[in-house]
Amino acid sequence: MADTYRALVARKDPEHRVEFATLTDEELGSGAVTVAVEYSTLNYKDGLAITGASPIVREYPLILGIDLAGTVVASEDPAFAAGDRVLVNGYGLSETRNGGYTERARLDPGLLVPVPGALGTRRAMAIGTAGYTAMLCVLALEDGGVEPGDGDVLVTGAAGGVGTVAISLLSGLGYTVVASTGRAAEADFLQALGAAEVIDRAALAERGKPLQRERWAGVVDCVGSQTLANALAQTRYDGTVAACGLAQGLDLPGTVMPFILRNVRLQGVDSVQAPMARRRIAWERLAKDLDLDRLDALTTELPFNELPAAGPRILAGEIRGRCVIPIGA
Ligand code: NDP
Repeated sequence: MADTYRALVARKDPEHRVEFATLTDEELGSGAVTVAVEYSTLNYKDGLAITGASPIVREYPLILGIDLAGTVVASEDPAFAAGDRVLVNGYGLSETRNGGYTERARLDPGLLVPVPGALGTRRAMAIGTAGYTAMLCVLALEDGGVEPGDGDVLVTGAAGGVGTVAISLLSGLGYTVVASTGRAAEADFLQALGAAEVIDRAALAERGKPLQRERWAGVVDCVGSQTLANALAQTRYDGTVAACGLAQGLDLPGTVMPFILRNVRLQGVDSVQAPMARRRIAWERLAKDLDLDRLDALTTELPFNELPAAGPRILAGEIRGRCVIPIGA
């Protein structure tokens, strides 16, 4: 009997619908490298794809999951060999390409990043797209010249995936981190990850003045909308704001005043199409700079079976930190 593989698949008949399916080898699609997937993860975007709340999936049927990590079992490309540990983030997985919620994946070699040896596949997926995006945000602050001694760095959406990894990374690098959250009950948890102070996200959520008291040397913003506008209005002269998310909204209801009067830099952060060289730098820095005890503290394990039910929960802001999903491990 032919080998078969369990996968979470989105179908359109006629509406978006998600179900577990048993796929044959042919149904995995094309790609020179075959990977036995060990772990995947749940990101905000996975929540959007599972629920269909946003049109993430653009081709049907499609295996969901924007991340995967596992071991190469066969490769037609000389850059990879059986036994190599690899990971993929984004690059159209779960949008136009089959994703990571599958026991077996067939992938183009150009998408694959070697798993840093210090991490292994489980921790690589505990980091996942959210953690790798947090690292891209830290690189953006560094590119903007923000240094640990410069003053407070704000992290919004603090108790979520990007937020918790950003706090852990920044505090480990010596930055003074202020965490903005709507979950007051998580204050001790956020401080254990390294936040020096925890503030109520409501303080940033409403319309504010175009320029406010200068407070932040840098900002990692996961929520967009009014929060991002206020964060910009409170950023100190020459500060940098890294904007990666839209959990509050995709609008940006602010003014140009922070840019033209305070020299504030707004740096967009995209993880999906980030060039391979940038990805490798980010993953090498994660392996070097992220405290693994803190990573383990912010990670919970989610059974593969429970993925469909977890989609709405991450959109509702009910998932703390990061979820790792054992697939074939
Ligand atoms: P999570 O759901 O894990 O975290 C999002 C957090 O945002 C929540 O935990 C909550 O934090 C906060 N939040 C939720 N709703 C609101 C609201 N209405 N107002 C203010 N804050 C809110 O998601 P991720 O960490 O995986 O992703 C965070 C954001 O970054 C998402 O918007 C995602 O789409 C985006 N993203 C973008 C990427 C890119 O390439 N640019 C890559 C990865 C993620 P708290 O409970 O602490 O208030």
